[in-house]
Amino acid sequence: MTDMKLSQPKSARTINTARVLAGLRTTPGLSKADLSRDLDLNKVSTGEIVDELIREGLVRETGKVESSNGRRPTSLALVPDAKYVLSVDIGSRNTTVALCNMLSEPKHFERIPTNTGVKKVEEFIVDIIKSCIRVVRLADQSRIVGAGITIGGVVSSDGRTIVSCPYLPWRNIPIAEAFEQLLKLNAVARNSTYALVDAERYASSGTDLLQSDQPIIYIEWGNSVSMALVCEDRVFGAGNSFAHLKASPTGLCHCGQIGCLEANVSAWALSGNGDMHLKDLWERVDDSTLTAMANAITMARQITGSTKVVISGEGATITDGCLGMLRRKLPDMAIERSNLGEKANMMAAAEVALDKWVYMTTLLEKVKNWL
Ligand SMILES: [Zn+2]
Repeated sequence: MTDMKLSQPKSARTINTARVLAGLRTTPGLSKADLSRDLDLNKVSTGEIVDELIREGLVRETGKVESSNGRRPTSLALVPDAKYVLSVDIGSRNTTVALCNMLSEPKHFERIPTNTGVKKVEEFIVDIIKSCIRVVRLADQSRIVGAGITIGGVVSSDGRTIVSCPYLPWRNIPIAEAFEQLLKLNAVARNSTYALVDAERYASSGTDLLQSDQPIIYIEWGNSVSMALVCEDRVFGAGNSFAHLKASPTGLCHCGQIGCLEANVSAWALSGNGDMHLKDLWERVDDSTLTAMANAITMARQITGSTKVVISGEGATITDGCLGMLRRKLPDMAIERSNLGEKANMMAAAEVALDKWVYMTTLLEKVKNWL
């Protein structure tokens, strides 16, 4: 499925199957006629695709829908647990491996420490693979379509290589190939902040969270902190320079400077160089923490002209109290909480794989732009 030739009818069927699945994901309850109309696809093809998806167990009929002309089309829905993806988020402290369904809901997961230098690259990758094997064993392997890997670093545009990462001594690691050889599973990697933005589009579809006339400052706040700009359907600029903006007069950063944002607001800093999750640390977030975050946002605003901020990653768990305090510090900006919830990073890595092998949304958007 990866090396598709768009001119071949079989590939057209593959793409239209992905569109039907994506349509039912966005709007459960559509009928064959609805799908045919919404996707601008002829009724015969739509019917064949839906019937095949029902035979394969990916879609089910959920009942008859009343309609004004007396005919009663059958409404359809995804069977979310028909297929799984493996979600691997390589964070700065922990690496989370999860088995997620077609709605990116985690079914099983485990965490292992991210090894930041004691072991060789190969040994840490073997640790990750072993964790994947333990999680994969909990499901019927034939249902797992691939693995999505996220990391707070630079990933090649084809999703196969981790070019660099600020918290790992890695250079040009062929991570997709390693997964394919050691785990016999397709794999694709993406920068974690970019992946969160993509996942946010699903979680927030129908809301105006990612709607804005100006670029949106999208912040991944967790054991480290990073930022990307979201501009209409594009996302760019993810890097670790945001983490090291001088946002406070105090706080020794692991980079050697004083006053970095990361040294003031990250879960790493708030837990005293410990290993706690941001969701358990909000009571330690005080006025000086939020002042540092507000200072960094102000600097980002001065450069980008953005007036809207979305707090995501583990930061999606921000309490109403902390969010209110941050809003009062930035009264002329819209500060919003991500809709992804506390499993944001797990879901984002799952979305990377679902996009590649189930819904193909990114590919279809590219195709649309060629026409
Ligand atoms: Zn720093």
